[in-house]
Amino acid sequence: MKKIQISGELSRRQWMGVAAGGLVAGLVPFAGWADNRNMTVVNRRQTVTSPLAITAITGKKVVVVGAGMAGMTAAKYLRMWGGKGLEVTLVEPDALYTSSIMSNLVLNGSRTIAGLQFSRDTLTQRYGVVRKAGTVVSVNRSAKTVGLADGSSLPYDRLVLAPGVSFDNAYGLTQTDYNTRTPHAWRGGAQTTLLRQQITTMQNGEIFVMTIPKAPYRCPPGPYERACVVADHLKTSGRGNCQVIVLDENPNVQAERHTFETAFTGLHASVIRYIPNVTGIQIDPASKVVTYVDAVGGTQVINAKVVNPIVPHRAVGSETGGWLAQAGLNNSADGRWAMVNVLSYESTLLGAEGIHIIGDASSCGMPKAGHVANQEAKICADAIVRLMTGAQPDAQPVANSACYSPITANSASWLTAVYQYDPTDRRMKVANSGGQIMVNGVAATATEAASVSQENFKDMGTWFTTLMKDTAA
Ligand SMILES: Cc1cc2nc3c(=O)[nH]c(=O)nc-3n(C[C@H](O)[C@H](O)[C@H](O)COP(=O)(O)OP(=O)(O)OC[C@H]3O[C@@H](n4cnc5c(N)ncnc54)[C@H](O)[C@@H]3O)c2cc1C
Repeated sequence: MKKIQISGELSRRQWMGVAAGGLVAGLVPFAGWADNRNMTVVNRRQTVTSPLAITAITGKKVVVVGAGMAGMTAAKYLRMWGGKGLEVTLVEPDALYTSSIMSNLVLNGSRTIAGLQFSRDTLTQRYGVVRKAGTVVSVNRSAKTVGLADGSSLPYDRLVLAPGVSFDNAYGLTQTDYNTRTPHAWRGGAQTTLLRQQITTMQNGEIFVMTIPKAPYRCPPGPYERACVVADHLKTSGRGNCQVIVLDENPNVQAERHTFETAFTGLHASVIRYIPNVTGIQIDPASKVVTYVDAVGGTQVINAKVVNPIVPHRAVGSETGGWLAQAGLNNSADGRWAMVNVLSYESTLLGAEGIHIIGDASSCGMPKAGHVANQEAKICADAIVRLMTGAQPDAQPVANSACYSPITANSASWLTAVYQYDPTDRRMKVANSGGQIMVNGVAATATEAASVSQENFKDMGTWFTTLMKDTAA
């Protein structure tokens, strides 16, 4: 136990040190935490060669649901920090993980879906995570079991839910439309490939329409990044008279505002038309006619060639009758997200003790992003290990987020922020590099790149590789 507390203290200092240093090329700051923590164990015990810590935990079971950015990280670090006495079962239906991060670069042909797929085998082989192929369809809080679609159930002492997001039927569209005619492609996979194919068929002069839902949504800069990548691709493939029309339900650009406003009014001004404050979107999936109400109440009609509706999303299972909803865990005011205590990511629902929700499905004050999901998973894993050894979760968690956005096929910008626990609101909030949430009465904000560059693009590749290695290997 003592070992863990000492390591925890080191990790927090290291994290803030990185924050003070700003964004370092390709660095995933928290990745170093885990390794150092493990190193601490190895150095102190000298004889330990396994990547698993030696702890007092015996005979405990954690079930992790969803092996995406959050779930894979949680499973790995629960084993690494909890040790052999902590059995971790990871439930996931898909054989491989397909990253959404970098999937916008599939649209211009510079990456492939196959190149964004990751095996989870190392989690089993190196860390002893038990994998269970399946889909969770129920949570029984009193029996402490999860039910799977195949009729089996798994018992747990603690449960970590990391199922990501599902997409509403919206704007007159259905899930079948997303899969076959009007892909949202907001989860990397077959829809990304379909959208790529549709863009490939566009002729000069035709229109690509994309929509952005009201925040919070997955990856705040992602839609604006997609607009830039598609515009750049159309221009550089001889289709510079095409238009990319961005219909945003928000009042303005939601992340990296300087970067994207500069790109929309400068570099990509001849192709991108950005329209904020849009309401009443309706899409005909057959004709690709899009109608919407503009900021002054006028109804507008666009005849598009390709429509990419990034529709409103929510925690998987939070829809009426869904498994998360039936367990009462979708307890945000709008019923879309799981509210959590950000010291442990345990649900705030009374009677749901021992159930933790991480990644995009939860609401914690930080953006819905893969880098953040990785961080939440580690805070959660640390808290579970502490709780299982009779201690309390870290009272001052710190997390960081880095996001790179390609603006063309070979240039990018970035956004980074350090988040700190605010005990008044009990949420994670952006801190400045000195670790303060408020500076002279003004809320600290995330930092974005001063300019778009090829160097940033190179760093982006390193950052992604490092993040995925820390998550899945
Ligand atoms: C175009 C795009 C670009 C992005 N770029 C970035 C970026 O640059 N940086 C960044 O940090 N983030 C980025 N993101 C966001 C990032 O991909 C997500 O925030 C991240 O994947 C969330 O992780 P998660 O684990 O919550 O969900 P996911 O990664 O989606 O994983 C959820 C997993 O749960 C599984 N699952 C679902 N339901 C069940 C169930 N009932 N039972 C069992 N398993 C289940 C799913 O199969 C899936 O494997 C981007 C997203 C998009 C769409």
